[in-house]
Amino acid sequence: MQASDHNEVLFDRQAKRLLSSASLMADASRLRFVRGERVTQFARLGVNKVIDELLNMPYRYIDLTNVTSIAQAQVGEEVTVIAYVGKVNLKRPRPKMSIVEVYVWDQTETLVISYFGQPWLTKQFTVGQRVAFSGKISFSYGYKRMNGAFHDVLDDADQINLAEKTTPEIRLPYLPVHHTTEGLSAQWARRVASCAIEDYADVCDIWPARLRAKRRLMPLRSAFRYLHFPQSLDELEQARKRLAYDETALLQTALFVRKDVELAKLNPQAHAVEGNYVDALYDAMPFKLTGDQAQAVAEIFDDMKKPVPMNRLVLGDVGTGKTAVATFALAAVANTGTQAAVMAPTSVLATQYAQKIGPILDACGISWALLTGATPASQRKLLLPKLAEGKITVLFGTHALLSDNVLFKRLTLVVIDEQQRFGVNQRHLLREKGRGADLLVMTATPIPRTLALALYGDLDLSYLRERPVQGAGIDTYVIEKDDRGQAYDAIKEQLALGHQAYIICPLVGTKPDDSQEEQNDVASQKLASGEDPSDAKAAQQEAEILSRTVFRDARVGLLTGRMKAEEKTSIMSSFKAGEIDVLVSTTVVEVGVDVPNATIMLIEDGERFGLAQLHQLRGRVGRGSARGSVYIAANTSNEVAKERLQALEKTSDGFKLAEEDLKLRREGTILGLRQSGETTLKFLDVSEDEAIIIAAREDVREMLKIDPHLDSACYAPIKDRIIALYGDVFREVGGG
Ligand code: ADP
Ligand code: MG
Repeated sequence: MQASDHNEVLFDRQAKRLLSSASLMADASRLRFVRGERVTQFARLGVNKVIDELLNMPYRYIDLTNVTSIAQAQVGEEVTVIAYVGKVNLKRPRPKMSIVEVYVWDQTETLVISYFGQPWLTKQFTVGQRVAFSGKISFSYGYKRMNGAFHDVLDDADQINLAEKTTPEIRLPYLPVHHTTEGLSAQWARRVASCAIEDYADVCDIWPARLRAKRRLMPLRSAFRYLHFPQSLDELEQARKRLAYDETALLQTALFVRKDVELAKLNPQAHAVEGNYVDALYDAMPFKLTGDQAQAVAEIFDDMKKPVPMNRLVLGDVGTGKTAVATFALAAVANTGTQAAVMAPTSVLATQYAQKIGPILDACGISWALLTGATPASQRKLLLPKLAEGKITVLFGTHALLSDNVLFKRLTLVVIDEQQRFGVNQRHLLREKGRGADLLVMTATPIPRTLALALYGDLDLSYLRERPVQGAGIDTYVIEKDDRGQAYDAIKEQLALGHQAYIICPLVGTKPDDSQEEQNDVASQKLASGEDPSDAKAAQQEAEILSRTVFRDARVGLLTGRMKAEEKTSIMSSFKAGEIDVLVSTTVVEVGVDVPNATIMLIEDGERFGLAQLHQLRGRVGRGSARGSVYIAANTSNEVAKERLQALEKTSDGFKLAEEDLKLRREGTILGLRQSGETTLKFLDVSEDEAIIIAAREDVREMLKIDPHLDSACYAPIKDRIIALYGDVFREVGGG
């Protein structure tokens, strides 16, 4: 970096900054207060290095600018009060029902905070504690009340601005609330963040001053600070934008460098897209391709026949026939005498792929196999050598495909379904098994173009808009939680007609050792709800209760991401075979599952899901000749939440819903409920930040034009960050 960039700083200051910059990549155990068991707990929150903590965005901020006394709080108003806990009662008006009532006072008046169905909260409050409560004021039985208030225990230090030691009298207008895990309190997390900022945030910027000025980027050290302790919402937004620029630019750099690498070293395959196997497939296909499908196949073949790696994304709503399109790419591989891998995010899906496409491949004489976590070792042992010898043309599977001993003779096509469920690295790992292999990714999630650019760099896009089979369609109803009896009645009616039903519950709480597939579920769940799933209605419990009560006479089955892969597969086959009437499930059924006889679905706790995800879920019914109905049970007392869900009643256009979702999530940011989904892009807001994406791409291209492998010393901090995030994409170039 040029010396002139730092004219403004004194020399020793600069020396300190250089030191802190270097410490960003140090272990999280270096942070003050992070020792022993805390290190593990922090790792569970994704904080492994010092920088992870600096970038550990609070998921909400308590707005202390709107603090009022209880006496002044108006009924119907959303406020924050800071009060002392006086008394905590646990009431059980009925079995299975609990109400925690917390009486708090602030010298002006008493306020009663009620929590329903969370009996464990009694342990979280102690008499005399100072707590901030945010929520809407109501009035009944002689008291002002808040139901289900968001609360945060304060300690005395929170009163002064921890981040600004120099001006200790300034009060924090926004108090950050970080994600915590069992055994970690919010105050503690706040203290660690504050110390981390004090000790490490004063860093050199990774981008040249010229660039920062041009893009009006807040200095990195300020962004770290204001992300946690903003003085105003505008400051918070500037910090977020700065960090969004960084993560986008870093990802783009990694993608471009890696792409260069791939293109430079490899032997891409020119596929024979015309030939016996493709002809055989046209004969074996039980239907004629729709116009959109034919177009997508043509685009894919056009890419595949060139000796340049294909990078194509097929976007199509559920039921638009992406699978058929992918099958043609597989046939072209068979024509060429090489191999293809098809990776799906869950074993249920991978198995379904094999079941759907397998017989068609058989009919064409194309060999294939399935490899998931459930594949018995004996079978695996037989399979792997055949794969290495090239005797298997198509391998379907899950993450199991990524393991080191899965070796292909000549892998020339990688198909990835539900791309967004995989990280950048997983995609790369699979592609590494066949250098120069063509990449075909498919998604039912309507990804806006800007996001596609941000995530995938230079992917070409094919769209499937038409639906080959109209199906009978779906009616969607958003109902109040307590009215779910309606849904049960409707389900019983459908069962009486010989149909089957889904009941979808949010996740069973997850443990850190859960399988990758479950982690995917958790990730999507988090994406949707931004909440810890552990308190969600457990599918397991629900299945038990229902099978004893409402659906006593039906066969109730259970499917969760937690189960062993073979167990999942066997449950799905029973459901398909009609041996299960009501399938109670977590979101593992979200994508791709196809059981036309299932005509009705009840989704519990609908407000916890994103619209796009609900849309995918409901796409499971109404696929056959009978019309489907979907009941979304939700707590509809929140007007915004209700309006959001009602969009589902009105439209069946997945793209519209996705856009709506993005807009509303944006709103969520302002409300302090920002959700981080895709781990690599937690600051970028795809509905708003198109300009950032475009700017970052431009800047990265320019930087790489001058220094393709970022070899000059001034880029070292950028390189470090990229390597930490995406692995050493530079070393693959051969010494950089
Ligand atoms: P997606 O993966 O996009 O959700 P699928 O590939 O599973 O969709 O296809 C949905 C259903 O439509 C499947 O039952 C499939 O057999 C059927 N299908 C696909 N393409 C056609 C077509 N061109 N004509 C008739 N049916 C089709
Ligand atoms: Mg599919």
